[in-house]
Order: sequence, then C-alpha cells, then structure tokens
Amino acid sequence: MNRPSPAKRGGIVERSKREKMAELTFTYGTMASGKSTLALQLCWQLREGRSDVALWTFGDRSAEGMVTSRIGIEAAAEAIEPGESLERHVGTLLRRAINILVIDEAQFASVSQIDELACIVDDHAIDVHAFGLSADFLLNVFPASARLFAIADWAHELPLTSSCWCGQKGRCNARVVNGVVAREGTQIVTGDVSEGVVHYQVLCRAHYRLGQLSAHAS
Ligand SMILES: [Zn+2]
Repeated sequence: MNRPSPAKRGGIVERSKREKMAELTFTYGTMASGKSTLALQLCWQLREGRSDVALWTFGDRSAEGMVTSRIGIEAAAEAIEPGESLERHVGTLLRRAINILVIDEAQFASVSQIDELACIVDDHAIDVHAFGLSADFLLNVFPASARLFAIADWAHELPLTSSCWCGQKGRCNARVVNGVVAREGTQIVTGDVSEGVVHYQVLCRAHYRLGQLSAHAS
C-alpha cells in the first residue's frame, strides 16, 4: 500500500524541509466561501518571520494589485493579466528568492498559465497555493480550475460556509440579471458587476434549478 506520509497529508501547511518536492495545491469553493480570506490568512501566517512569500491575483473585485476579502482584510498583490505569459513574473519571483506563491482568483487564469504554474513548482521548487472557484454561474467548471483538478498535487474543497436562503448548503453560484437567474451568457462579465443589474447569489442545487431567489416565489 502506498500511503502518503504524514508530512504529505497536510494541505495548506508550511513544510519545513526545503529539500522536499514543491507542490501545487488548489483550494476551491463557491463564492463567499472565504477563499480570499483564507488566501490572505495563509499569506499573513507564512510571512511571519520570512520574506519569501509572494501573493498574486488573476483578478480582484475591487482594485488591481490587491487581494481583498468580503470581511474587510486586504493585502497588496501582483495583478496577473489572464492569458499573459508568466515569464516576467517568474523572473521577479526568482530575483526575490520566493519559495511560496499564494494565488487568488485562480479560476480566471488561462489553461496555459496553469501549466506555467506547474513549471514554477517543478522547475523552480516553489510551492504554489492556488485559490479559486470551481464552477461558473452555469455550473461549468472553469478551464483553469479543470486544469488544476487534473494536475494539482492536492485539491481541497473549502467547507461550504455560504448557504442558500433556505438554509441548505450553497452549491451553485447563480448570476442574477434583473432579478432572474441567468441561464446563458459569457463566463466572465467584463462590465461593472456592482451596478446592481447583475449580481451573484449562492443557491442550493434545487433553488438554482427552480430559479427561486427567496422564500417569496416571484
Ligand atoms: Zn435553497
């Protein structure tokens, strides 16, 4: 039986022996499940007493170059354009002797960028902790997330902390357009999501299917 050694079972843990192989870890969940909060907390904990931890984001809900969480904590991050080559950013990591890279909004990366992350792990022995959504508002797995599921050393689902209005676990990230659950549309809305016309709401599977956004069916 090939059992993982105790040291390899942990997911988001700092490994003390640098001679171990670096790993690619994907932590995923629904919206409002605390992904950004956990990414920031991991970064903060790791940075206690060390300077070899970098933070990237593939897109942030507030401003470029920041990772922010809904509970109000934030940190400066390197903003990566979806689709761009990571070569320049990798050069920066190497110059700064980074050993751990924390990434938020990994679902917005391109598949080739995820493959480049794997190279960062395998060729440069940098641990990569990627956080992101698994599926979009149509319940299709993001291409980047699918790639991470395929090649990450570890994939962890965050505990489902966001609930549907009915109290059931919130499994589905519904896109609500003018008060109606959208059944089609582009995977990424490029306009201002905060305008109020478009917003996202976490629903259980049944209420996603029914398109019911509250106890008072419209
Ligand atoms: Zn429900």
